[in-house]
Amino acid sequence: SPRVGVLALQGDVREHARVLTELGADVSLVRRPDELAAVQGLVIPGGESSVIDKLSRTFGMQHPIRNAIAAGLPVYGTCAGLILLADRITGAIDGQETFGGLDVVVARNAFGSQVDSFETTLGVDGFDGPPVHATFIRAPLITHVGERATAIATLPDGGVVAVQQGPLLGTSFHPEVSGETRFHERFLAVVRAA
Ligand code: GLN
Repeated sequence: SPRVGVLALQGDVREHARVLTELGADVSLVRRPDELAAVQGLVIPGGESSVIDKLSRTFGMQHPIRNAIAAGLPVYGTCAGLILLADRITGAIDGQETFGGLDVVVARNAFGSQVDSFETTLGVDGFDGPPVHATFIRAPLITHVGERATAIATLPDGGVVAVQQGPLLGTSFHPEVSGETRFHERFLAVVRAA
């Protein structure tokens, strides 16, 4: 089974680890460069992107993660994880940086504050079966999709909330909290094929 890691600096690490384990992956928590080097794919969880960014630099993980992405490591980012995968962000705080890799612009907290969290159903390109039940929590919005990335899910108003670019996958919302496993399955299929 594929060996995948969940970046475990901050955020909803356990929820991702649980879904991936249920799907048969060999899951480890990644906090150090040697732990990153041992995995064939990485999930960057939801949480607070500025905190994950800061901790990644404190733990000497920013450059190893950037190098791994450049080398083609499959990475799936949800919410804060999507922000960290974006080449450009708006609404950054405190000199916040990203790992980058996804040719998109992402706006932080694009739907308002915590009380504006919401749930909806979405169609996702390439998924069979029922629409995705998506939970948005202080969620970002993908405000520009560059040439190398492809939008795979949009809100009724046209706002892009999921993208794929080769081995990189990002969602504004949190499938790991709503029992939705198809994004993790897609990520694991990319890992197996890589
Ligand atoms: N608003 C958070 C951030 O900017 C993301 C929220 C989430 O991951 N649920 O990092």
